[in-house]
Amino acid sequence: MTEIYFDNSATTRISPEALRVFCEVSEEHYGNPSSRHSRGADAERLLDDARGAVRGALGATGGEVVFTAGGTEANNLAILGRLRAKPRFMRGGKILTTAGEHASVSHPVESLRSAGLTVAAIPTAGGVLDLDTLRREATPDVCLVSMMLVNNESGALYDLAAVAKIVHAACPDAVFHVDATQAFLKIPFTVKSLGCDLVTVSSHKIRGPKGVGALWISPAVIKNRGIAPVTLGGGQEGDLRSGTENVPGIAAFAAAVRDGLAAREETIAHLADLRAYLIDRVQHTPALAEVRVNLPPVAAPHIVSLTMPRIKSETMLHYLSSKGIYVSSGSACSSHDAHLSSAMLAFGLTEREADTTVRVSFGVTNTREEVDTFLAALADGVAHLIRTR
Ligand code: PMP
Repeated sequence: MTEIYFDNSATTRISPEALRVFCEVSEEHYGNPSSRHSRGADAERLLDDARGAVRGALGATGGEVVFTAGGTEANNLAILGRLRAKPRFMRGGKILTTAGEHASVSHPVESLRSAGLTVAAIPTAGGVLDLDTLRREATPDVCLVSMMLVNNESGALYDLAAVAKIVHAACPDAVFHVDATQAFLKIPFTVKSLGCDLVTVSSHKIRGPKGVGALWISPAVIKNRGIAPVTLGGGQEGDLRSGTENVPGIAAFAAAVRDGLAAREETIAHLADLRAYLIDRVQHTPALAEVRVNLPPVAAPHIVSLTMPRIKSETMLHYLSSKGIYVSSGSACSSHDAHLSSAMLAFGLTEREADTTVRVSFGVTNTREEVDTFLAALADGVAHLIRTR
């Protein structure tokens, strides 16, 4: 059975080049970057190169890149680290975020709400960030804004440049954190075009190894000491993330970043073509009349959300999996029900609709032929599963 992997927003297969670098660095450059001898310096040079690669891909001329154990840890550092640096905001401070964030943002934000901060989650109905509500909520007590650029479930691309303008004008103490985990190398943004202070990226979403990520921190936040560590220890990563760095993982991440950046425009065009093709076929194939596309007005090129009101997503996911086709049934981070997607509820789906929604997410090696095979299996699945309900 040939396999079709359409779950690239969950994770990607490591690229051959990133894997080669991972193995080479593990074998040949095994020093501890904190060691004073030349093996240590050799490893440290790899980290510096990798910082340059991440900075370059974010279009940043300055600032610090702090390597972490993934997007989750970078998000926690941004959010909890902000309040650790400025504990006075623990009383009377406010956080702005979006409805439907990934759990690695919503859970630390929730923990700060429990500790006494005010939180405003800006609505994202229809995949559009509600800027009118944001304008009302952007008050001078805001100390942190944490928002994703691309929603991992709906694929919605939010207008964070507009958020930055509003926030920087109305909230003098606000630091603007962007979770760019799903957007990195799939949307041509820079830290300047977003007007942000902190950016999260993750390696395994861009064909690097798992368990590696980074937080970019603007020169202004570094200068103000606007962020403090949450992991304490030996003082690595500019004292912002202690622990011996994952040098092979970071070097392999950097290889994936370089390759991803070099091919970015081509990749975006290819992913957008697959997405447009899939949406068109779903909307014009009678056998797929049951399937509805959840279409944000502006979206990332690699994510499509599909609702089949009469078929539970788990059921469809298992049916497709039995045919060697891998999609996702939504992330396990909901306010109501452990398996419903909070992002799709915030999008405006009912609980029942959210429970019957699957996500297709493309990677660079996917093809139109795979989309055709997927759609044929989906049509068979719809017919079969409705009959056997
Ligand atoms: N943010 C978003 C939007 C994500 O999609 C993910 C991964 N599903 C993360 C953060 C967490 O990244 P990681 O898996 O590297 O911890």
